[in-house]
Amino acid sequence: MITRFAPSPTGPLHLGHAYSAILAHDMARAAGGKFLLRIEDIDRQRSKPEWEAQIYDDLRWLGLSWDGPVMRQSERLNIYRQALETLWERDLLFACSCSRRDIEAAASAPQEGVPLGPDGIVYPGTCRERGAHHPGQPLPQAALRLRMDRAACDCSFEEIGPAHRGIHHITRERMIREVGDIVLARREMGTSYHLSVVLDDAAQGVTLVTRGEDLFEATAIHVTLQKLLELPTPTYCHHDLIRDEHGKRLAKRDDARALAKYRTEGATPDDIRRMVGLTPLA
Ligand code: GLU
Repeated sequence: MITRFAPSPTGPLHLGHAYSAILAHDMARAAGGKFLLRIEDIDRQRSKPEWEAQIYDDLRWLGLSWDGPVMRQSERLNIYRQALETLWERDLLFACSCSRRDIEAAASAPQEGVPLGPDGIVYPGTCRERGAHHPGQPLPQAALRLRMDRAACDCSFEEIGPAHRGIHHITRERMIREVGDIVLARREMGTSYHLSVVLDDAAQGVTLVTRGEDLFEATAIHVTLQKLLELPTPTYCHHDLIRDEHGKRLAKRDDARALAKYRTEGATPDDIRRMVGLTPLA
């Protein structure tokens, strides 16, 4: 069994991250498996070396050790590009120049409002209809969207997390209607969260993806991409989210619950385990 913790170095780790990391780490250790670390730093604007350094420091302080070298997404841009080139050659992508406002305007049918998928507004198809793709052309420097009508297939994945335990079926028809032509490469990044995560989980040999329930809907996209790229589909464990006293999920900007703050206030790693409802280390 190989699982991972994949934080973005765009802010301090908080109690929610600690929960996710400890859960994955403890599952790996209990199963005699591996716990890997991946730094998801494709957002060059928001990622900062000091946050990355703080991640290593916080994890070590929590008593978590990871196996093997750390994978950093910013060092894998050529891998993402190769995958995009393959998909482009297979005529599964199209360049999109729509702004958010263009999409909102084109998507809102008067009676139904704007159709929302896990990745925001379901793309109304404006640039796909323009049919700008010519085989043999180089990959354009633009936002690239996936042609979901050609990409999706009926498939499934196994979930072992408490809220959705069981086999989940994904239908092609639902992916087209409710998810649509998602962005696989942002213009300024040359990739996207979805594409990178799928390629990296496969490259790291991840067999169990452990992450928050807020990403449950995104998993259908990831499994679709795995099938398209002929990559194995791991088992998934979407865990519950740590919430504040108002029931709101913690966000990066919740510095109030940053691990570093608890540390300076004198909390121990076992205190953190107790706070997130996990058993202290033996
Ligand atoms: N990097 C994502 C985050 O910080 C998680 C990625 C994943 O588990 O797929 O929330």
